[in-house]
Amino acid sequence: EKEITSKLKQIKIVFAGDVGVGKTCLVDSFMGKQFEDVKVLTSGSEVQFVTKSIDDEEIQFALWDTAGQERFDSLTKIYFRDANGVILVYDITREDSLERVKFLYQTIQDESQNGCAIILFGNKVDLENKRKVEISKGEELAQSWNCSFFETSAKTRKNVKEGFKKILEEAFEKK
Ligand code: GDP
Ligand code: MG
Repeated sequence: EKEITSKLKQIKIVFAGDVGVGKTCLVDSFMGKQFEDVKVLTSGSEVQFVTKSIDDEEIQFALWDTAGQERFDSLTKIYFRDANGVILVYDITREDSLERVKFLYQTIQDESQNGCAIILFGNKVDLENKRKVEISKGEELAQSWNCSFFETSAKTRKNVKEGFKKILEEAFEKK
């Protein structure tokens, strides 16, 4: 069991997606923090070393939260290089945020050295009345990438734990 833990410690998960899609809130939600309606912009990137129990199993990993602005693209590229898993996030109320994850996906293909696990999150599913991106759009995209897909809400915590669990499993397999 010691061995598994030390391996997981080296797992690097990167959050990527446009500004405002809810990356930082998803991290906070996963960490059990309270949801905030007003969030400070993430500048550059922030890393957290996380120890979490999922299904009674204690896991440790590094979680990289990126800014999302295009002016940080060259920085984001570097994070993709040795990532074991990337969580690509769009906002179901913003069509342009889906275009952004397509672009980021391509960047991962170009930069990732050992191939990393990818998961797609369509966030803010609690805002059903403002939905602009149908669930089928997300499903199709994930299928074309051969990756898992969840519609999530950092606010209600819908699918947050499930999504994390999935990417951690897949990142661990790739390690
Ligand atoms: P980031 O730039 O991707 O890190 O986005 P933030 O986490 O800073 O969130 C941007 C804004 O979206 C904030 O006002 C959040 O309160 C809001 N937000 C984030 N996630 C959700 C969600 O699941 N549902 C709703 N309704 N709002 C969210
Ligand atoms: Mg942020």
